[in-house]
Amino acid sequence: MITSEQTRQAVLLEPGRLEMRQVRPPRPGPGELVLQVKCAMTCGTDLKAYRRGHPMWPVPTPFGHEFAGIVAEVGPGVDTFRPGDELMAAPTAPCGECFFCRRGQENLCAQTMEKMVLGAYADYLLVGAHVVGRNAFRKPPELSFEEAALLEPLACVVHAQSLACPAASESVLIIGAGPFGLLHMLLLRARGVREITVAGRGAQRLEWARQLGADLVVDVTQAAAERMISSLNDGYGPDLVIECTGQVSGWTDAVARVRRGGRVVFFGGCPLNTSIALDTRRMHYDNLTLLSPFHYRPVDVEQAYELLCRGTVSAARIVTARRPLSELGSIFEMLQSGTVLKCAVIP
Ligand SMILES: [Zn+2]
Ligand SMILES: [Zn+2]
Repeated sequence: MITSEQTRQAVLLEPGRLEMRQVRPPRPGPGELVLQVKCAMTCGTDLKAYRRGHPMWPVPTPFGHEFAGIVAEVGPGVDTFRPGDELMAAPTAPCGECFFCRRGQENLCAQTMEKMVLGAYADYLLVGAHVVGRNAFRKPPELSFEEAALLEPLACVVHAQSLACPAASESVLIIGAGPFGLLHMLLLRARGVREITVAGRGAQRLEWARQLGADLVVDVTQAAAERMISSLNDGYGPDLVIECTGQVSGWTDAVARVRRGGRVVFFGGCPLNTSIALDTRRMHYDNLTLLSPFHYRPVDVEQAYELLCRGTVSAARIVTARRPLSELGSIFEMLQSGTVLKCAVIP
């Protein structure tokens, strides 16, 4: 039972403007629950929305979508969770019935984007019935709330790698040393991939890549970068390239760097109305495979949950800052500088 009359809820008013509102705590309807947020995690998508807005999040919008916490109240019909349960969840869930859901492509279900749980930068968060029924899990006591709050980004990474099928014998190049690039690296490491190279920029980020286990770190601003990457894999180049910058230059680079017969994963989404040119000769005669995973399916969320619970992936290693919810405004200023991978926001 929530006893407080007023609780905090961060709202994005417009790009660059956040407001901490005092609101009445949410009440759960049928199938829903209210979570007392213990940790919300910053995300690149949040930063994009903060900088330039997000097409699916018309402002003003409650803000924050990576979270873990304790169930405060459950609505009628909820029998899988009880108040006091520690819970982790993805912020979206598919309908299970549409064209895409029936084909096992639930990541493309319209509902996932239309009914995203938003508002995790708050004391309390309303979790919709679709998520409670499909993509919510009990958090094991030994798993920290920080680790648990990384369920969603890890599910995205799991989905991408399920398409890419990295083999232990392979050499993999990750372009982009941000949180997603390094999360990809942690999962590849856990899968025993032989050689992992991270190419990126920013001394601090490259140092983190090294500390978290990259075999080779390439500073793309250095003249030697191209030569270092092309000498991978006995000079054939990487078997698999995972693009995590979401920049057109990164996409173009990824296609240029992969070996003949290799695979490219375009993981980072680029700004609207951009395109890349493909050399058809290279595409065909070099037998390239281009993959472009988006979002995740329930099966990916389940797998991410298992990876976290078993400790196979220690995802919280990419959390490099912790701040109280009251400092949210300055947290986003800090994220802009690129000197933080992920910041745990604690109510
Ligand atoms: Zn996210
Ligand atoms: Zn659907």
